[in-house]
Amino acid sequence: MATSAINPFESAKKQLKIAADILNLDKKTLAILSQPKRELSDDIPVRMDDGSTQNFNSLRVQHNDALGPFKGGIRFSPQVSIDEVRALAMWMTWKTSLVGLPFGGAKGGVICDPKKFSKRELERLSRGYVQQFVEYIGPDKDIPAPDVYTNAQIMAWMLDEYEKLTGHHAPGAFTGKPVEIGGIGARESATGYGGAVAVQQVAKLLKLKPKSTTVAIQGFGNVGHYAAQFLHDAGYKVVALSDSQGAIYNKSGLNPAAAMTCKIEKGKIAECYYRGSVVNGSKADVITNDELLELGVDVLIPAALENQITAKNANSIKAKVVVELANGPTTPDADKILYEKKIVAVPDTLANSGGVIGSYFEWVQNNYGYYWTDDEVHERLSKLVISAFNKVVAKSEEHSVNMRTGAYLLAVHRVANAIELRGGV
Ligand code: NAD
Repeated sequence: MATSAINPFESAKKQLKIAADILNLDKKTLAILSQPKRELSDDIPVRMDDGSTQNFNSLRVQHNDALGPFKGGIRFSPQVSIDEVRALAMWMTWKTSLVGLPFGGAKGGVICDPKKFSKRELERLSRGYVQQFVEYIGPDKDIPAPDVYTNAQIMAWMLDEYEKLTGHHAPGAFTGKPVEIGGIGARESATGYGGAVAVQQVAKLLKLKPKSTTVAIQGFGNVGHYAAQFLHDAGYKVVALSDSQGAIYNKSGLNPAAAMTCKIEKGKIAECYYRGSVVNGSKADVITNDELLELGVDVLIPAALENQITAKNANSIKAKVVVELANGPTTPDADKILYEKKIVAVPDTLANSGGVIGSYFEWVQNNYGYYWTDDEVHERLSKLVISAFNKVVAKSEEHSVNMRTGAYLLAVHRVANAIELRGGV
């Protein structure tokens, strides 16, 4: 498995610099965009079930809010670091800008291993996060959402704590909430749904027919499993799936819904290799995560963590297309290699924008107090992803650059304009 020794914030700044040079961005604007506007870091004391108290370092990085309130998820993971959160916050700024949302970019994280927490400990940690940063979050300030190893239940505890502390209802303070308290049904699947729309657009561009298009997905969590399901339903052949503990591959295709049922039952996807509901043909092969990335498939979807496609393995990637549902899965050096190999890489800012679009629709409906159907959400979401996709393709062609740089040119330009209009430079 490719390691994450590469600093994601350095990668994010390199990507920004490439676009800034093409845009002839002035030095002052580049300096503003290269650093977060605000960084919050604190230790949260959490009372554990055994009576002890443990401190967990917690972060919230607010990158830019020229276009609107800060927006970005919260990650609970032992791998969280300040530079990871900085990079993720910056990428949120580009993502919201690219798809035309009235939001800026932020991200949060807690350095912890949530798998070792009881439900009550997780609740106390979630409430502690809000107590620590309550001053800086809110529907018009900064709106968190779920990310790696956080979910709707955690958003519910966080919202409840926020409303207790501020003394009023404010469902728009968090997105990705349960439906019962102002969430929307289509939010949980929105990133995977938008990702499937992006795959369909790139398949159209490359004239790939769904039935004969094979797909490998790294990461079978929220994003990966919904993307797998939507693509399977649209007729694509999902042939490989993985989680942090291993991968399975069957060239005849896998059944994502059955694979999820099996994963829940067995705890890991690598146990789900037998003939039957999970596997259409003969038994699946159990392979490593490295092997999954290098399979000879049409579409490779990294949907786990950053720094998975690096200079070390980019030359071994055989897919025709990489659709980045994870944030930052490809390093700048690997980007160059993929471009030289004529592998089309649909960048994270575009490919996984369905998540923040879904969050935006949730926030709009919370502010409005009026709710749409899931079909309406999907239809509006598709329109935004398709429109951004077409603009990115046109921009990349105009400047003869890869799609990432095309996306950056559009996104950075919009934010830079907003800063200038506000008199920031
Ligand atoms: P998740 O916690 O639900 O799932 C993550 C999955 O990745 C799990 O199956 C885990 O086992 C797997 N994984 C972890 N390390 C791995 C490794 N080394 N190799 C293979 N698999 C590994 O998280 P998620 O919400 O699905 O997020 C996945 C990615 O998508 C992240 O990069 C996240 O920032 C990005 N993203 C998420 C959303 C969202 O709405 N949840 C939106 C945009 C982007």
